[in-house]
Amino acid sequence: MQSSFAAQPLGRVCVLGLGRTGFGVADYLVDLMPSRVTSVDLYGGARSVPSERTEELVERGVRVVCGTDELDGTYDLAIVSPGIPESSAFFASACAHAASVIGEPEFAWRESPERWVAITGTNGKTTTTLLATELLEMGGLAAKAVGNVGVVATGEVAHRAEGSWFVAELSSFQLVTAYELHPRVACLLNITPDHLEWHGSLDAYAEAKERIFANLDENDLAVVSVDDDRCREVAARLEERGLRVCRVSVFEVPDTPNAAFLREGRLVVRRDGREVPLVRRENMTLKGDHNVQNVLVASALALEVGISDAAVSQVLMSFSPLEHRIEPCGELGGVQYVNDSKATNVDSVEKALTAFEPGKVVLLLGGYDKGTSLDSLARAVAKRCRVAVCYGAAGPRIAAALRDVHVASGLVVAEEAHLAQAFDRAVALARRGDVVLLSPACSSFDEFSSFHERGEVFKGLVARLGASGSLA
Ligand code: ADP
Repeated sequence: MQSSFAAQPLGRVCVLGLGRTGFGVADYLVDLMPSRVTSVDLYGGARSVPSERTEELVERGVRVVCGTDELDGTYDLAIVSPGIPESSAFFASACAHAASVIGEPEFAWRESPERWVAITGTNGKTTTTLLATELLEMGGLAAKAVGNVGVVATGEVAHRAEGSWFVAELSSFQLVTAYELHPRVACLLNITPDHLEWHGSLDAYAEAKERIFANLDENDLAVVSVDDDRCREVAARLEERGLRVCRVSVFEVPDTPNAAFLREGRLVVRRDGREVPLVRRENMTLKGDHNVQNVLVASALALEVGISDAAVSQVLMSFSPLEHRIEPCGELGGVQYVNDSKATNVDSVEKALTAFEPGKVVLLLGGYDKGTSLDSLARAVAKRCRVAVCYGAAGPRIAAALRDVHVASGLVVAEEAHLAQAFDRAVALARRGDVVLLSPACSSFDEFSSFHERGEVFKGLVARLGASGSLA
């Protein structure tokens, strides 16, 4: 792929944000001074303060501005970190002071546009990105997972291996500020309500996700789930554009020339009319309907860039579940404990529940309340769980929603203040053969700094219970 951007002079550049992205981009730009970059200004925003890391950049010739959302220079290019909303004063100031304002993945792509594949969706991005990366690597290609997985793509550009692929996980935040980014394969997993506080509406959120396909042409492949209405509409629009669209479904067999689906328990990818059978569902290491979706998408992607079906099947039978995503963390007294702390919205919990036998789940739900509708979650919990222990800021609202539906199902609903008490209650209510599942449907910020910390605390509670020997 040719880009008209790579190796062009960039002029006066500013970077917004003092997180991993901002620092990664600033480091990269400093190394381009003075040949391609005239100056680098790094703005931290209103609440930022200088640190050792900013001092280091100052020594290398970067101008660092902390404590304000107002830019004060004029720039050829502004590169914005993903945590800064388009609607913020900080972003608006960048638009007023820079000729062009872009996000970080867009910048990385402009600098090194060859061999990108990209993945977005409300849920399953990280799982699919890491699985796709492993599929490429095990199939004999060099590949690096970048983007929202926590690896700043720009930071990888300078030492990118010859011929290697970037497998980019892109969030809606990152796609809002992407314009020319053109992956060889672009994938959309699903669109369900999340982050509406950021994008303002489900339409704006869905539009941001659809931008992943904006620059695809007939030589590329769009991989799109058709199991939700919004994604189905996207698939139809892409087909109208004349693109090759691989329709992905866990529940039906699409009749299009490119498709990925389950047929009689086996995963199949259809490529330009030719069917490639892969593993049977029960032989996949990743469990649950949602993981079938993730695996179908990653497999379609891998086959498109030339990985053999044998290599794909091999990886699907050995890939380990990721930390905090339906992660088994022990069995005590005949009860399994599973950490799905990454399930921070209702859809991910509904999907997680499909990985377990109905009626055996003791579910821990709660945390910071995002205010999303709980109707469909409540129905799924009533159908699949025996006990729900609700805790944290959102606990009372979730418990109320569950009580509205539980009467007929016999679901036991308990309430506790914090995760630790909720865990003890779950242990007390669990019976031999049950699964105690932390899949909270909420973010963690009322009690923890991140879903990582929440997951670690849960695993610590399981470990302590094991060490106490009371359930051995
Ligand atoms: P993301 O990077 O999009 O947040 P992850 O792969 O980290 O996605 O998974 C986050 C959570 O979402 C997991 O805990 C799991 O319960 C759920 N999940 C994973 N894949 C899907 C999917 N395809 N559809 C719905 N939920 C999913």
